[in-house]
Amino acid sequence: MQNKDIQNNLNDLNELFNKLTSLEIIQKSNELFETDVVFLTSMGLEDMVILDMIVKSKSDIKIFTIDTGRLYNETYSLISKTEQKYNTKINIVFPNNSEVEEMVNNNSINLFYESINKRKLCCEIRKIKPLKRVLSDSKAWICGLRKTQSITRHDLKIAEHDVLNNLIKINPLLDWTEEMVWNYIKENNVPYNILHDKGFPSIGCAPCTRAIKKDEDIRAGRWWWESPENKECGLHK
Ligand code: SF4
Repeated sequence: MQNKDIQNNLNDLNELFNKLTSLEIIQKSNELFETDVVFLTSMGLEDMVILDMIVKSKSDIKIFTIDTGRLYNETYSLISKTEQKYNTKINIVFPNNSEVEEMVNNNSINLFYESINKRKLCCEIRKIKPLKRVLSDSKAWICGLRKTQSITRHDLKIAEHDVLNNLIKINPLLDWTEEMVWNYIKENNVPYNILHDKGFPSIGCAPCTRAIKKDEDIRAGRWWWESPENKECGLHK
C-alpha cells in the first residue's frame, strides 16, 4: 500500500470508528478486513477485554500471543485458563531459537540490564521478529493501547499506520480509562493475570516488569531502570 492510500484509508476509518463502540469497532474491522485482521494479545488487562469482545462478536479474528520465553508463570496459567473458558485457541508464536541462542551466548542471559541497545536487541529477537512473522500475511492488527497508559501514547488515533509493518493498527480501547477496563473485567467475569492484584498494572517479561507503588506512573514497572521516553519495546511506534 502507498503512503497516500494508507492516509486516505486512515482518515475514512477514523471517521467511521469514532462513531462506534469498542465492540462495534472489532466487528467492523472483521467485516472490512475479513481474515486479514489479527489480534495480538499480551494477555494484559486491556487485551483480555478485547479477547472477550472478539469471542462475543463471533468474529473469525485469529488470536495470537508471543511467548518470549521469559514470561511469568502466571501469564502461562492465564493463557491456559482463557482457552478453556472461551473454548478458543490462542496461537502461540515463539522467537527463532538459533537467534536466541546466539544473542544469549554472545552476551549474557540477562543482557537487557546492561544497556538500552542490548535491551532493544532482546526485544527485537524475542518479540518484534515473531510479531513481524504473524503480521506478514495481514493487513491490520488489533491492539489494546490506551492514551493514558503512557506519555508516548497520548496522540494516538483509533486507526494508525503501523509504519514498521506497513499495515493498519486498530486500537478499539483508545479512550478507555483504567477504571473502565476494570469495570468491564469485573462485570463480564473476564479472567485476568493475578499479578494485577499484586501491584502490577502492566505485565510483560518477568525480568523486565516489577510491581509499582501507589504514587508511581502505571508504566513505571516496565524497564524501570530506563527513562520514560525509552519505555516502548518496539512493538508499538
Ligand atoms: S521485555 Fe525484557 S526479556 Fe522481554 S524481550 Fe524485551 S528485553 Fe527481552
